[in-house]
Amino acid sequence: MSATSPQLPTVSREWHLVRRPNGWPVPEDFALREAPVAAPEEGRILVRNLHFSVDPYMRGRMNDVKSYIPPFQLDRPMDGGAVGEVVASNAAGFAVGDHVLHGLGWREYADVPARGAKKVDASLVPLTAYLGVLGMTGLTAYAGLFEVASFKEGDAVFVSGAAGAVGSQVGQLAKLKGASRVVGSAGSDEKVKLLVEEYGFDAAFNYKDPRPVVEQLKEVAPDGIDVYFDNVGGEHLEAAISRMNVHGRATICGMIAGYNDTEPTPGPRNMAMIIGKRLRLQGVLVGDHAALQPEFVREVGALVASGELKFHETYREGIESGVDAFLGMLRGQNTGKMIVSLA
Ligand code: NAP
Repeated sequence: MSATSPQLPTVSREWHLVRRPNGWPVPEDFALREAPVAAPEEGRILVRNLHFSVDPYMRGRMNDVKSYIPPFQLDRPMDGGAVGEVVASNAAGFAVGDHVLHGLGWREYADVPARGAKKVDASLVPLTAYLGVLGMTGLTAYAGLFEVASFKEGDAVFVSGAAGAVGSQVGQLAKLKGASRVVGSAGSDEKVKLLVEEYGFDAAFNYKDPRPVVEQLKEVAPDGIDVYFDNVGGEHLEAAISRMNVHGRATICGMIAGYNDTEPTPGPRNMAMIIGKRLRLQGVLVGDHAALQPEFVREVGALVASGELKFHETYREGIESGVDAFLGMLRGQNTGKMIVSLA
């Protein structure tokens, strides 16, 4: 059954974590190394990665701590979402030329067990969409808004990190599903403009403005908020708790403001408000919501195809740019999904 495309490479380059970052990662924490490429064994496929994803959760995997996902090992290739083309197959159901989504990014060629690969259709949407709008970040937005926050028509919604992959989708989905008001925060005036002019947010603000987040939030959502989708934590979460209406719900999706902190991030100072307002704050992990995948792809796929749901992607070209892309994403250099393209 084994099939191989004519010229297989002998060497692939891959990113290793070589030192655990202390605070902000620096380029010296990583190394781009060569590894031999072999024909796949029984039940495996060899994939030429065309694009791979760099995501905030990877920062957590650089720490040697117990979490919902194991840490990256030092001097081993890092991994994460990737899409690519099968160049050799020793597995039933996969042929040379198939496009697949899998979990062995951060490298040029991936030796993937067939059970860890999913065929995707590159004729309907760009392949990169399976890493973002129709992939992990998209499902996070969908599950976090509808299942975890129990969003309902008429809710006023605030989303932080609103110009990013998850946030931009949350805001648009809320708007399309009848939110009374959708407001967002982002880290530049250009991003704020994009939220309002392209994604249809009712209002947005730049959290880097010297005025406190709570003041800016009050201005854009004077009647309070029913749903807060938290991608950021810290000052944003405290501001949201202050401005939430009675029986408000918050999806705690990410706390990127603290990912590079060297000391534990202090909690919101206004937690007692959770009692009086009977708020619900609930974490989301996308991996818990795989059952929503078919419904998510059907519904969001149609919204993407019709152009009702818009998305941006930011690319860095070449395997060499992997770490730069990751660090750039942490600093907000991306609009929408940050992707490393090897195509
Ligand atoms: P993203 O928003 O596309 O990229 C990260 C963004 O975070 C940057 O573009 C930057 O935008 C913003 N940021 C960085 N530092 C910040 C700070 N100190 N304060 C406020 N914003 C800051 O990333 P994503 O993949 O969509 O992820 C968004 C959040 O969701 C992250 O917290 C991530 O960990 C979380 N997440 C959780 C799950 C889950 O299952 N729980 C799954 C996926 C993602 P600005 O220019 O606006 O600062």
